[in-house]
Amino acid sequence: MTVSKFASICTMGANASALEKEIGPEQFPVNEHYFGLVNFGNTCYCNSILQALYFCRPFRDKVLAYKSQPRKKESLLTCLADLFHSIATQKKKVGVIPPKKFITRLRKENELFDNYMQQDAHEFLNYLLNTIADILQEERKQEKQNGRLRNGDVDSEDNNSTPDPTWVHEIFQGTLTNETRCLTCETISSKDEDFLDLSVDVEQNTSITHCLRGFSNTETLCSEYKYYCEECRSKQEAHKRMKKLPMILALHLKRFKYMDQLHRYTKLSYRVVFPLELRLFNTSGDATNPDRMYDLVAVVVHCGSGPNRGHYIAIVKSHDFWLLFDDDIVEKIDAQAIEEFYGLTSDISKNSESRDFQSRD
Ligand SMILES: [Zn+2]
Repeated sequence: MTVSKFASICTMGANASALEKEIGPEQFPVNEHYFGLVNFGNTCYCNSILQALYFCRPFRDKVLAYKSQPRKKESLLTCLADLFHSIATQKKKVGVIPPKKFITRLRKENELFDNYMQQDAHEFLNYLLNTIADILQEERKQEKQNGRLRNGDVDSEDNNSTPDPTWVHEIFQGTLTNETRCLTCETISSKDEDFLDLSVDVEQNTSITHCLRGFSNTETLCSEYKYYCEECRSKQEAHKRMKKLPMILALHLKRFKYMDQLHRYTKLSYRVVFPLELRLFNTSGDATNPDRMYDLVAVVVHCGSGPNRGHYIAIVKSHDFWLLFDDDIVEKIDAQAIEEFYGLTSDISKNSESRDFQSRD
């Protein structure tokens, strides 16, 4: 144990200074820090998501702003804020940090993550974003209640109203509209649905755009039995369209698929090309900024053949270059090298799991 720890610290040191040299003192972004995260036993799913979120600037800024607020009782969010603050205030530009407090808190709060097994990075992202939103909403509720008590106003008027959106929603939340159109009487109806990320099915030798098109038309394919017009009972066609485009679009490629014949999940290592820039096509007529262009800012990649083994890494864009975070190791890579993570034309290994696009505006 001690020996391996010592050995890995040595590698980290060598790697860290190599990275600093490679970027060069003139090119190294002011006030930026590239810190690897120590793995506490299969915590690469967590480390890679944390790095992707750290380099998602609007998110990082909000977490650091939370840190500067008056001290709150410990939560997953205070632990995250401490970790981000610790990275952002390091004297050195590169190095390694143990996210120990965060991992301990995560294991304490959710039994799903309270073990040393490989976890699903997408599930963790989902859990983390929802937990932070819950914490923020709870705090706001408390503040309101305290305010009311101070004013001697005890009525609980908006106890049942939907909670206000938090900065998690401001950053990641988009709205889809499910539109159905009757093929006979042409009655159109629509229903809105909010999301923090989109999970799309993957197919071999395709692209993100193709997967999104499939996602948008899913309802049409299964509509034969599912959708009947309320007016005339005829068949309807249905689409999902983007009504409110999120600031950060988090896409999850569903590479882990349950195979009924095998009674287990297998991994789809299909090659799915994703561009460095993405414009959404399936926007609804009344969407604001339908032509909004997204820049790729982070990719979390699952390498390996199955859901219960393998390894997660994160590729992030920082200023004008790309960095690969593999737990405690940080490397600068060329943008072209990202192609290696599209997947495979035949099923062998490396693969992509989830990715974040940041809107330019
Ligand atoms: Zn009809």
